[in-house]
Amino acid sequence: MRVVIAGGAGFLGSHLTDLHVERGDEIVVLDDFTTGTRENVAHLEGNPQVTIVAVDVSAEVPVTGTVDRVYNLASPASPPAYLERPLETLAVGSEGTRRLLELADANGARFVMASTSEIYGDPTVHPQVESYRGNVDPIGPRSVYDEAKRFSESITAAFNRSRGTNVGIARIFNTYGPRLAAGDGRVVSNFIVQALTGESLTIYGDGSQTRSLCFVSDLVAGLLALGDSDTLGPVNLGNPDERTVGEIAEAILRLTGSSSSLVYQPLPTDDPTRRCPDITRARSVLGWEPKVVTEDGLTITINHFRELLSA
Ligand code: UDP
Repeated sequence: MRVVIAGGAGFLGSHLTDLHVERGDEIVVLDDFTTGTRENVAHLEGNPQVTIVAVDVSAEVPVTGTVDRVYNLASPASPPAYLERPLETLAVGSEGTRRLLELADANGARFVMASTSEIYGDPTVHPQVESYRGNVDPIGPRSVYDEAKRFSESITAAFNRSRGTNVGIARIFNTYGPRLAAGDGRVVSNFIVQALTGESLTIYGDGSQTRSLCFVSDLVAGLLALGDSDTLGPVNLGNPDERTVGEIAEAILRLTGSSSSLVYQPLPTDDPTRRCPDITRARSVLGWEPKVVTEDGLTITINHFRELLSA
């Protein structure tokens, strides 16, 4: 198979690229390297299966030859990263998605859209089922990400309806693991780096808001299963092991053996108060569910950051 992975040098994209390399596929990675990194794909340099193209897919998608599958993971994904790049985030979610859909459609390829649990906003339905339509402030600061992803779902479904393009939509919940960038700003990377360097763990708000953390190997296995299927979805991909942010901090302190203290900081605007996937559909349609226990995944991630910090 010849597979195009937009955002293939990012946290999730690079792990997905690895899965397709293992399957013997040919992969074209498209990444503008604003949040994706050369380090994430350094182990693939010189691999004849992989071509890496530095490009902003909201401006162009320079892929020639036949294509069997297109994944769209091109977007800043951590709140600090997309809040720093509001217009770029909107552009890649809209124009970038349209260009990648055109590529898939022209090739009769399967298109997989990496959407997000953020489309549910601050949810009034819990846990979140795919039929829930969400609670997003369309002009709030987070809307640049939420609405870009909502638009990307809309245009993906419209290509399917109007042109018969073979598409699937994944709604990805909080994911963690090796290759999360240390300065990325997400809760797991922040807390682990703070715990390992003896800094205080920064809890936003009172730490009672919840997230459900999925280990990266489980998540990309779900994306691959969606790619291999012919379902449109949308399909929630995440681990329903819901924890408060305070509990996540405690677990990381315990697993690192750190004596860092906790410091409370203001809650970001529109920070969702709770989030947990209902994965009934993923189980039944894809035969997928997460396997990695949160404590085990955190231990692997802590070891990754230990190595990174000592280097
Ligand atoms: N958070 C926190 N301290 C941090 C980073 C994040 O308390 O240093 C909180 C954040 O306010 C949110 C949750 O952890 O409630 C998850 O944040 P993250 O940025 O990882 O992802 P989100 O789910 O908000 O997109």
